[in-house]
Amino acid sequence: MLFGPTLCLIVFNSCTVEKEKVTEQQIPINVPDFNSDSAYFFVQKQVSFGPRIPNSRSHKEAGDYLVSQFKSYGAAVIEQEFIEYSFDHKKLELRNIIASFYPETSKRILLAAHWDTRPFADKDIENRNVPFEGANDGASGVGVLLEIARVLSQNDSLKVGIDIILFDGEDWGERDGDQNSISLPNGLDSWWCLGSQHWSKNKHKKSYSASYGILLDMVGARRSQFFREGASMTFAPKIVNKIWTMAGRIGYSDYFVKQDVPAITDDHIYVNQFAKIPMIDIVPYQAGIGFFGEYHHTQKDNLFIINKETLKAVGSTLLHVVYDEEP
Ligand SMILES: [Zn+2]
Repeated sequence: MLFGPTLCLIVFNSCTVEKEKVTEQQIPINVPDFNSDSAYFFVQKQVSFGPRIPNSRSHKEAGDYLVSQFKSYGAAVIEQEFIEYSFDHKKLELRNIIASFYPETSKRILLAAHWDTRPFADKDIENRNVPFEGANDGASGVGVLLEIARVLSQNDSLKVGIDIILFDGEDWGERDGDQNSISLPNGLDSWWCLGSQHWSKNKHKKSYSASYGILLDMVGARRSQFFREGASMTFAPKIVNKIWTMAGRIGYSDYFVKQDVPAITDDHIYVNQFAKIPMIDIVPYQAGIGFFGEYHHTQKDNLFIINKETLKAVGSTLLHVVYDEEP
């Protein structure tokens, strides 16, 4: 994603740092391993198609690859195709990809990321109109979720159902500096997050719901830290606490910092507001700088910034959370 803190959603929570005592009993047992080599491979594979810009051949081929991977892991896959217009008047052919594991299980957890990449590097100093790899902004979250899908296909001890949704059209928002300058048509709340806005108003199954959702965005860069994002704390503070606490128990408190930061516009906003599913966002934040690393929407967002340990911190935490869920 996306642009800075939303004006309407800025939530300044008091800054608190919590520490807790950990006992071995609090760490769930029999949680399968998250293979960060495999997750890295999935990031690399997406990048190899070229930038996944809607309407491009790379976008189509990468989307087909994601669908076939999920099917190979035994998921029931639904492709939700739709048309939306961008701020610069392009007619975008978009596709949300929904992969369901254990579709017969009533208690469900939703995991999501966006799979498209931004069509221009508008925050770069040069080559602003040239697309970038989107190794972190796009491919990293999807890479973690593909690895989780692979793990699910090889372990049957999960007690809940999982739906993985890859949102399309997340990253074609206004250029940097143009925020709020182009009026929105009826039916859109933002030029960003087109796929999550569409899905949240048109779920793949009419009565679909989930106990909660976890959104991943830019979860692969070296030395990333994930703070408690404002909208997540407004809509689903218990889920934030569950995830950050689990991360601490399994040794990732350096990555998951129990400290509040402002809200940002991302796909979880629409899942909360329109789909009425409490969803939190795992998105990096740099103390003193803000949500976006220097790579953000620049040519630097490439494979060189991707780090297996960061992918592992996020993926392993997610696996521990979902394998710890009771039916
Ligand atoms: Zn972006």
